[in-house]
Amino acid sequence: MALSFQTVIGLEIHVQLATKSKLFCSCSTDYIGARPNSNVCPVCLGMPGSLPVVNGRAVELAAMVGLALGSKVQQATRFHRKNYFYADLSKGYQISQFDLPICAGGLLVFDDDEGKEVRVAITRAHLEEDAGKLVHPSVDGRLAGALHSLVDYNRGGVPLLEIVSEPDITCPPHARRYTEEIRRLVRYLGVSDGDMESGSLRVDANISQKVSDGRWGSRVEIKNMNSLRSLERALEYEVKRQRKVLAEGGEIHQETRHWDDGEGKTRSMRSKEEAHDYRYFPDPDLPPLIVTADRIEALRSLMPELPWQAERRLVDAYGLGADDAKVLAESAAAVAYLDGCVQAGAEAKRAANWVRTEVLRVLNERKISIEAFPLKPESLASILALVDRGKLSTTAAKDVFDVMVRDGSGLDTAMAAAGVVSGRVEGSRLEEIVEKVLAENADAAEAVRSGKDPKDKKIKFLQGLVMRETRGQADVAQVASLIARKLS
Ligand code: ADP
Ligand code: MG
Ligand code: ZN
Repeated sequence: MALSFQTVIGLEIHVQLATKSKLFCSCSTDYIGARPNSNVCPVCLGMPGSLPVVNGRAVELAAMVGLALGSKVQQATRFHRKNYFYADLSKGYQISQFDLPICAGGLLVFDDDEGKEVRVAITRAHLEEDAGKLVHPSVDGRLAGALHSLVDYNRGGVPLLEIVSEPDITCPPHARRYTEEIRRLVRYLGVSDGDMESGSLRVDANISQKVSDGRWGSRVEIKNMNSLRSLERALEYEVKRQRKVLAEGGEIHQETRHWDDGEGKTRSMRSKEEAHDYRYFPDPDLPPLIVTADRIEALRSLMPELPWQAERRLVDAYGLGADDAKVLAESAAAVAYLDGCVQAGAEAKRAANWVRTEVLRVLNERKISIEAFPLKPESLASILALVDRGKLSTTAAKDVFDVMVRDGSGLDTAMAAAGVVSGRVEGSRLEEIVEKVLAENADAAEAVRSGKDPKDKKIKFLQGLVMRETRGQADVAQVASLIARKLS
């Protein structure tokens, strides 16, 4: 009988918390581009006699994630030392949490690409500090030729929240969706920039296969995926590899494997036999951390709307399509901007469309966040009000929008600068434009006049030019009859 398989996946996601200072000292967390080893002190370097002090903001950010995931935010939690030796860890141990993590339990619910609901239980989320970074200077541009390694401890001690899922995920695409959802959450809450490429969000994926004959392969942990795409690819590769081994009667050993993105393969890094015994013990320098019930309740009351709640509301209250709602609910600021437009009287769907296309386009072009967007929601609403009342065509409205964004000017000034008149272009002004277009395109005009335009191509061309001159502010039928009259 042919064997069948079931994939079992559990993820450990490390999220770098967006605090100004490190987890146990006041050194800056700004390590990208900083001079190597400039953001360090005796505490984060682990000098004897130095004493760590917990960063309250990191605890708050961790608790916010826990509250969003429906975890129990524990009132009494503590820190352990996880002992191991590596050059990027000057202390010889990492301060982490062990038996009493800040957040226990929880659940993440999301839809997969086919719209089916997926539920993944959260085991825990705990605080820990990051390690430094090894730098291998290349020789003649070749890394393999490096003669020595350098170490930069700037990242050492930066706060991380490790979110551990239960092995509830059943396929690689769901693992990707789960990670997208965690990333959206931490970004939405302002807890982390969630950038996988720069390492602010790192995923370790554990995967095993259940076989229909009762066997259950050991789990393998995959590291080093720095995009959602490589996460999914690495897991797909591992599903195939494990199934092949098990189908041939082989065994999967518990090990850590490294994803090689270029080769599209996972490679064995270390086996269970080489696994560390970390000798966890409570850090004697850090007293138990007590987060009072009052403080947790205060945080709970300050929790903003969550991204999946916002997405629902945009559909239910504003009538947006699922797609628009999803794009906008990527960012709390985008949702707030849209809410601002609606409060200022804009029709929700039209405003959403403008935010999604025009506003996001400007943000991308200028590489700014929506908080730095020069146009207030009220100003965008005032442009849209003119469109609603038929006083401004969409084309003209976009011109006005561009001028307001460029010059930071008000509506009237921008309309004058864009050469846009509110209301329809008609009467003598429209006649002037028609005459100008006919004069500038005498050949086409003459062809129409002498009946040499059998398929109306030239007349359509002339009408198009007039509409363009008026920025779409004229009535098409009126333009057509005006041209016909002039050329009869
Ligand atoms: P460790 O301390 O070695 O990292 P944990 O028990 O904390 O081990 O589990 C780490 C991750 O492995 C969790 O996300 C969990 O869901 C996942 N996991 C546990 N068992 C399995 C399994 N059989 N197959 C796939 N993933 C698993
Ligand atoms: Mg692990
Ligand atoms: Zn420090």
